[in-house]
Amino acid sequence: MTAPFRALVFGPGLAVTGTPAVLAIQGDALTVTPQGADHPLTLSPSTLRLREVGFGRGGIELAWHAPDGDWLVHVLDPDEATRLQGLAQRSGLSGMAALQATVKTRRRRRAVGWTSLAILGLSPLLAVIVLYFNADRIAAWAIQSVPEDTEARFGRSAFEALRGRLSLRDEGPEIDRVRTLGKRLTQGSPHRYQFHVAEDATVNAFALPGGIVVVNTGLLQAMQRPEELAGVLGHEIEHVEQRHSLQALAKDWGWRAAWALIAGEWGGTLAADAATQLGSLKFSRDAERQADAGGFDRLVAAGIDPSGMRDFFRRLAADGGFLSTHPSGAEREQQMDQRMQRLGSRHFEPLAGP
Ligand SMILES: [Zn+2]
Repeated sequence: MTAPFRALVFGPGLAVTGTPAVLAIQGDALTVTPQGADHPLTLSPSTLRLREVGFGRGGIELAWHAPDGDWLVHVLDPDEATRLQGLAQRSGLSGMAALQATVKTRRRRRAVGWTSLAILGLSPLLAVIVLYFNADRIAAWAIQSVPEDTEARFGRSAFEALRGRLSLRDEGPEIDRVRTLGKRLTQGSPHRYQFHVAEDATVNAFALPGGIVVVNTGLLQAMQRPEELAGVLGHEIEHVEQRHSLQALAKDWGWRAAWALIAGEWGGTLAADAATQLGSLKFSRDAERQADAGGFDRLVAAGIDPSGMRDFFRRLAADGGFLSTHPSGAEREQQMDQRMQRLGSRHFEPLAGP
C-alpha cells in the first residue's frame, strides 16, 4: 500500500463544500474515508469517471455513482495529484490508467482553443499575447472585459444552481451579524452584495462572482469575537472585488467559457458546473495573498480591529485545518504580523456582540 492522499469528498449527507478525506489505493481497490466516518468507502477503479479540476493547477476529480447518489473526490494539491497520476500510470488499475491521457488531452485542447481564437482574427496583438504569455495571464486579461452586471448575473445563476444543496438560515441573529458587518465592509463597492448563512458544520466560507458570500454555521461557531468574523468576511469580499473566482473558472474552462462570460451568454450547465466548483475553489497562493492584504486594509478602512483576522487564521492554522479551501501556514502568519506592526498602536473601538 502506498501513502494515502489528502482529498475532499462530496456526496449524499456530506457538506456541499466538501469534507476532508483520505484516499488510499490497496490492490485494485480505492478506498475513501471521509473525516469522522467509521468505515471507508470502497470503490472499483473501473466504475470511476476521471477529469481534471482545480482550475488549471492539475487537480484531479474522481466521480462515481452509488445507489445512494453521486459521489465526487477531489485531489487538488498539485503535488498530490501528480503523485496520484504517476501511481495510476504504474499500477495495473485499468480505469486509473486512462487518467494520464485524459488530463493531457484536455490541456492540449485548451491551448489549441486559445490559439485558434487568436488566429481566427480578433487581432494580431491578441495572437502575440497568446504566443508569449501563459494561460493564467490570458484568463486574467479576458476576465477584465466581463462587465460587472454580467458577472453579477452569472454569480446569481450559479447560486440558484447551488442553493438547493445548501440549507440556508437566512433569519435570526447569526445572519444579522453577518449582514451588519458585511454592509460595513462593502461601503462604496460597485457590487451589490448578498450575504447568507448555511447550516453546515464545516469551518468554511466562500464567495461567488458578483458578491454572493456564504458563511457556514461551523465557521460562526468557531469565532471567539466579532472582529474574527469581520476578518474572514474582509478576505472573502476581496476575492469578489478582485474577481478571483471568475479568473479561476476561466482558467479551468478555457476560452469557450471565458468567451461565454464576456458575451454574457451561458447555458444552464455552465452555471451548474460553476456552482459545484465554486464551493471548493482553490485559489492560487497569489490570489490568497491579495485577499489577505486587501481584506486587512478593508478592515482598517472600516475602523475594525484587524487583529481578529490574524487571531482567527492563526488559531485555525494551529488546529491543523482552516477553511478546507484555503491555505494556512507560516508565511501567511508572518505577513499578518508585519501588517499589524506597520499599523502601530492605532486604537479601534471593539465591535459589539458575541
Ligand atoms: Zn481565500
